[in-house]
Amino acid sequence: MNLGPGPAVLAFDVGGTDVKAALVGEDGRVGAVVRVPTPPSGAGSAPAVIDAVAELAGRLRAAAGEPVAAGLVVPGHVDEATGIGVFSENLGWRDFPFRAQAEAALGVPVAFGHDVRAAGAAELRLGAAAPYRDVVVMVIGTGIAGAVFADGREVRGTGLAGEMGHARVADGPDCACGGRGCLEAVASAGAIARRYTSLTGAPVDGAKEVLRRADAGDAAALAVWESALDALALDLSHTASLLAPEAIVIGGGLAQAGDRLFRPLRERLDAILTFHRRPELVPARIGEDAGVIGAALAARDLAAAGRPDLREAP
Ligand SMILES: [Zn+2]
Repeated sequence: MNLGPGPAVLAFDVGGTDVKAALVGEDGRVGAVVRVPTPPSGAGSAPAVIDAVAELAGRLRAAAGEPVAAGLVVPGHVDEATGIGVFSENLGWRDFPFRAQAEAALGVPVAFGHDVRAAGAAELRLGAAAPYRDVVVMVIGTGIAGAVFADGREVRGTGLAGEMGHARVADGPDCACGGRGCLEAVASAGAIARRYTSLTGAPVDGAKEVLRRADAGDAAALAVWESALDALALDLSHTASLLAPEAIVIGGGLAQAGDRLFRPLRERLDAILTFHRRPELVPARIGEDAGVIGAALAARDLAAAGRPDLREAP
């Protein structure tokens, strides 16, 4: 992946399991992604994330060049405008001033954002969403969230837009957010595995194995998989009726099922919609490093905004 010539920047993506980081050189080349485990959830998790970011920055800076800005993206409810990580149910922080703390630790200006919105921005500028202006990028992994672009501009809703993972699509099961029947509790990769295990008592190695079992004729696996497809199609139909996107780009672990996901999803969505604009359902292109790439793009934008000589010609 190459972002084109520009200032050297650092990029960090705080995920559920790893904090990933990369240095993007002035030639735009994205260096090797390095990672450390995400600190455990709890009261000290947010400061520990800053420590991890500082440690990774030390390693990367030794490798090449002096970055002029950094991008940091984290999960949960993120307020980009204030630089605050408002809430993460998975990592356990509340109202933590990530941008200010990261700037203090790194000594460069920091663009702070949301992991999935950053991944969506990367898909919009360099990936599968690039041909479209009205497009939703949806990430289906451990959870489900999306980035919404209307007329080429991101819809943020003070950091709460794109939370389709917590829209109700069924009568159950309970969701970690305190709701019930949320899309994420029915159809995320994590939920598909959990629901199969609670139905059969058999532990499985992720949604991939549930799908394999469904293909081998396991009735419980098939029921779980099909109900996940129904829930996803129902949610996509709401997205289509609300925003009329040209396309919905789907990434995350579940998208790796390829045609086994996309084909039945297209059929189900087509059967629900009537006069609506039918969005193309397109696999994401950038893949698992989209968050890091999005963080790098935001850092580049910040550096350019601060230095008129680096601003792109309109
Ligand atoms: Zn929920």
